[in-house]
Amino acid sequence: MNACKSIAVCPGSYDPVTNGHLDIIQRAAALWDEVVVAVVNHPVRKGKTLFDTAERVGFIEEAVSGFGNVRAEPFSTLVVELAGRIGARTIVKGLRAISDFEYELEMNQLNRQQAAHIESVYLMASPQYSFLSSSGVKELAIFGGQIDNLVPGSVARRLKEELAR
Ligand code: ADP
Repeated sequence: MNACKSIAVCPGSYDPVTNGHLDIIQRAAALWDEVVVAVVNHPVRKGKTLFDTAERVGFIEEAVSGFGNVRAEPFSTLVVELAGRIGARTIVKGLRAISDFEYELEMNQLNRQQAAHIESVYLMASPQYSFLSSSGVKELAIFGGQIDNLVPGSVARRLKEELAR
C-alpha cells in the first residue's frame, strides 16, 4: 500500500516557521498523500539558528496538528537522501522572488546530479506572503514590530521573549 502513496518533502531551516511556509505546506498537503516537513539540523548555509532544532520542529508540529497528512522531522543529510529514506519522490519548495529562483535553480541541478529520479516542484508564494521571510520576521521582532499576523501565536510569543529589546 505504501508504494502507491505519494509523499512530498518540504525542506527548510524554518527558523522559525512563518505563515508563508504554512501556506506552502497546506497547499502541498492538498496535492500529495503525505507531506514531511524536513527541518535542517545542520545549517551550512545560514550559520547558527535562533531556535534549536527541537523547538523549530515543535513549532511546525503544533501548527500542522490539524492536518491529517503532515508531519515534521529533523534531518542532517542531503535532502535527496532523506527523500529516498522516507519514500518521497518529490521535493516541494516555495518561490517568492527572482532571488529564490536563482538559488533554487542551482539547488535543483545539484540535487538532480545526486538523484535524478527525485523531482522538485515549486509552488508560487501566495501574494500576501510574497515578502515574508523568517529573517524579516526576526528583524521586526528585534525592534518590537507587529508580527502576530505573520507567524503562529506560539512562535510570536517565543520571538518576543528571545528578541524584543
Ligand atoms: P527562509 O528562506 O524564510 O529562511 P527556509 O529556508 O526555511 O526559509 O525555506 C523553506 C522553504 O520555504 C523554501 O522553499 C522557501 O523558498 C520557502 N518559503 C519561505 N518563506 C516563504 C513564503 N513567505 N512563501 C512561500 N514560500 C516560502
